[in-house]
Amino acid sequence: MSMLAPSSAAAATPSAIRRRGIGPPSPTGGREASDSIDICLRPSLSAGSGQALTRWCRRPAGSAETPGRSGRSRSSRSARTAGGCPTRARLAPHPHLTSPVFTTFCGGGFIVNRTHVVTGGTGFVGLALVLELLQRTDDDVVCLVRPGAHDPDARLRGLLAAAARAYDRRVDLDGRVRAVAGDVSRPDCGLLEPIRGPIADFWHSAASLRYEESAAADIFATNVDGTRHALDLADRLGAASFNYVSTAYVAGTRDGVISERLIAPDSNNNAYERSKATAEALVHGHAGTATRILRPSIVVGHRATRAVVGSYTGMYGFQRRLAAFAQSLSVRAPERLHRPVRMLVDPGTPLNFIPVDALVEQLVGIAASGSPERIFHLTNSTPPAAGDVLRRIFALAGLPEPEYVSDPSELDDTDRAFAKGIEFYRSYLVGEKLFDRVNSDRALGRTDAGRMPFPDAEITAYARWYLDNVQRRRGPGRHRATPARSARPAPAAAPRPADPTRIVLLGAGYTSVWAYKSLRRRLGRQLRRGDVELVFVDPLGYHSYHGFTAEVLGGLIAEGHERSPLRTTCPRARLVRGTAEHVDLGRREVAVALAGTTGETLTLRYDHLVVGCGSHDDLARVAGLAEHGWSLKNPGGSAAVRERLLTQVELADASPDEQTRRELLSVVVVGGGFTGVEMSATVAELFRSLRPRYRVLREVEPQVHLVHGGPDLLPQLRPRFARLAGYAHRQLVRAGVRLHLDTRVVRVDLDGAHLDDGSVLASRLVVSTLGQAVAPVPGTESLESRHGRLVTDDYLRVRGGDGRVWSGGDHAHLLHPVKGEPCPANALWAIKHGGWIGGNIAATLRGRTPRRFTYRGLGQAASLGVGRGAVELYGVQVTGWLGWLMRAGFFLWFMPSRRQAVRSLVDLLGAPVLGRRLTALAASGRPIRPGSPEPLAVPSQPSRPPQQRDRQLLRQRDPGPHEQVPQPEPR
Ligand SMILES: Cc1cc2nc3c(=O)[nH]c(=O)nc-3n(C[C@H](O)[C@H](O)[C@H](O)COP(=O)(O)OP(=O)(O)OC[C@H]3O[C@@H](n4cnc5c(N)ncnc54)[C@H](O)[C@@H]3O)c2cc1C
Repeated sequence: MSMLAPSSAAAATPSAIRRRGIGPPSPTGGREASDSIDICLRPSLSAGSGQALTRWCRRPAGSAETPGRSGRSRSSRSARTAGGCPTRARLAPHPHLTSPVFTTFCGGGFIVNRTHVVTGGTGFVGLALVLELLQRTDDDVVCLVRPGAHDPDARLRGLLAAAARAYDRRVDLDGRVRAVAGDVSRPDCGLLEPIRGPIADFWHSAASLRYEESAAADIFATNVDGTRHALDLADRLGAASFNYVSTAYVAGTRDGVISERLIAPDSNNNAYERSKATAEALVHGHAGTATRILRPSIVVGHRATRAVVGSYTGMYGFQRRLAAFAQSLSVRAPERLHRPVRMLVDPGTPLNFIPVDALVEQLVGIAASGSPERIFHLTNSTPPAAGDVLRRIFALAGLPEPEYVSDPSELDDTDRAFAKGIEFYRSYLVGEKLFDRVNSDRALGRTDAGRMPFPDAEITAYARWYLDNVQRRRGPGRHRATPARSARPAPAAAPRPADPTRIVLLGAGYTSVWAYKSLRRRLGRQLRRGDVELVFVDPLGYHSYHGFTAEVLGGLIAEGHERSPLRTTCPRARLVRGTAEHVDLGRREVAVALAGTTGETLTLRYDHLVVGCGSHDDLARVAGLAEHGWSLKNPGGSAAVRERLLTQVELADASPDEQTRRELLSVVVVGGGFTGVEMSATVAELFRSLRPRYRVLREVEPQVHLVHGGPDLLPQLRPRFARLAGYAHRQLVRAGVRLHLDTRVVRVDLDGAHLDDGSVLASRLVVSTLGQAVAPVPGTESLESRHGRLVTDDYLRVRGGDGRVWSGGDHAHLLHPVKGEPCPANALWAIKHGGWIGGNIAATLRGRTPRRFTYRGLGQAASLGVGRGAVELYGVQVTGWLGWLMRAGFFLWFMPSRRQAVRSLVDLLGAPVLGRRLTALAASGRPIRPGSPEPLAVPSQPSRPPQQRDRQLLRQRDPGPHEQVPQPEPR
């Protein structure tokens, strides 16, 4: 053990120590990572001799007597409570400490029980400061906490415990910290109980962070009057010093070198800055307690954990507003999401960030230094450029990098709205302020204390912490206090790659969404840390659940409830709304044509690509089907068909012509698979439910034709589940569906469906359920494919690729593990493929072997109307109500969004009471695809005399094609 006795320390007297508040400066002034420091003070109080003996002892860390990480020796604490006093107290350096550790200690009988008083102790800086004081001194801390709904003491302790966890500090709070109800904006700080005992330092950190001119009176009441009240209180308590936590941005509109001098409150950007400058003048001119003004810059999270506890201001406030902006854009002007917002910002402006732990370490270090100076900058000498920070923050918000302009006329309305939203942060983003920190560095005895570089990866890590731990949990609303839950420490700060591993998921169908779910489950930590990034590319931005097509068409489930928005369903992924236009397999890039723009594209790099682009109704199989037929798979397809059907019923009701009525009330469904059978049963049921409302439906028998090319319906169920197929057949016949088996539709035109036997089914509504086709994504032609489907190996990797392209669902050709034939093209298999792909990508990233696809299937289900289900589950066949309920439960369970599942369930349960939903205004008049079909035409040559027709039309309301149809009687 070496003994050092610096002259300043040796000369320390109790009064000198008291004046300095925390203790004498370090003999070296620098960090001694491997040493602990023994301090022995024998002040006059202990022996009454009036002599102080100070001895500084260095001891290698790790010796048997090294105290715990709390920085407080167990023996010293217990001796104190027992009234005894050890001859020496030792404190270990703080793990992140760059200035020395201090304690006060009285030898010879007892220790003076000193107390620091802190205002704003429940805020971001305040909490960290309290922990620093507890860890670096042997003193107690009293915090003034505004009285509220919760017990101030419990609230303070809860937040401190959360902060200690978040900042990875082990501090014993018991008996050393307590809250006193108070409010600085009131005279005497509104103290409800006295603060007793010798007071060490008074730390005034409470402040209003509002900035609007309209709130200037409130801001001044807290920030200026509050400071005056705090100064009065410090005087009355006899505090050793008054430390005012101000802001470096009292500099206001000034640029260039900002020195550590008092600044007149004359040129500032907002009421907040003005109030802080005014309060500084008050503090500086105070005649009582010795004062210090401490000016931090923009405080960000902890250096090691990135965590923030207390309140989310500065960069986090900016992030919150950016998220709110992105959210409002996605609703009001989604096309703007892909266009850079313009900002009146110089990207080279330094953004002066200081991590909260560095800040409080320096605050306490300066207070302990005994420096005669009174104003100190706690700022960063190596700040990042605004452009770098904004680029990262915008990217994390899913927005393109902003464009920087200098002329306000270059801003459009959206840019201006955004500028208004971030008005408070403007002072950080303009002008080049170079904060001089001569006083601070001198006090800390270091020239490098302000060196805190923020490379790109660091900026991302800080911003991502907020995104993952706060914003994604609570949405982009206002975030004030932090409950303990969100203050869990972030994972240890390992070096992060600047470019995370990016997995691009094409499409928002079952394959991609379940791949996401699987990846999220397996790579949650990597996703939170930013090591892995998931990006969806989809033109619509939502998942369409086809399982409930019949229910939506039949008005049992509201249109929209079958759609799950990706932003809420897959919150850990980014979404690029657009169509994958081209894949460059060599460069591993996807060119995306952005939705809502006129040809703008975005190129996305990928490390793994999941092609889940599904399929579309194959309308090319029958002449005229594309022009005159209707598809259910298009976005909103089932609701559009329902709207069309209801419009036709209204027109038929208004039409006097018998033939026209029959054509309008005739629906042809092409295809006798699951979808065709379900659709014809649903349309027949819908006609039945409308009968009480429409006279025409009682006068003319509506017709539903099901045309099927094979001898039997539902070939997928035969021969093994022929009982189910037979049940479905009987139910359709009972419902009045006219079956045309072994018959093909050869042409569709305005007259209806032309059959291969030469007959014509006169109809204005021909719905295709013929089957699916795949549109290959351009650029994937070199990959192995069959009928457009990408051929995959047993691990779902596309053959002919580099092992980084995966596919599943309708878009893929993958052999059934047992049957050796292609897996069925339905949702269940797409879900399983997606989940498997996610698992295999995660395994690949971890260097493990991917798993062979071994899923064998679960079953099949169809609905033939309410209460008539046909279900096969692991070979067991169930029909009727039980089958219907099983299918509904099964489908609800598999919906990707729980919220949408609940909404759909409520719809289903409410339908018997409230009736079916018969409006589909969103889909109103939407054609299946451009150019088809022609608008409905009621014949110009009525078969009845004009007078009769007019009379008849007068009796009827003419609803027009888009008017709401009256609700039918409850079923
Ligand atoms: C009317 C109807 C009812 C059905 N009912 C059932 C049922 O009850 N049970 C059942 O199991 N199956 C049912 N299916 C079948 C089931 O919907 C499909 O098998 C399933 O959707 C296939 O999933 P997928 O992930 O392969 O593709 P999809 O779910 O079709 O998703 C494809 C996605 O890719 C997107 N996309 C396409 N091209 C691009 C591109 N170039 N760039 C970016 N994105 C692109 C699309 O927007 C879409 O989001 C039904 C199908 C239909 C049409």
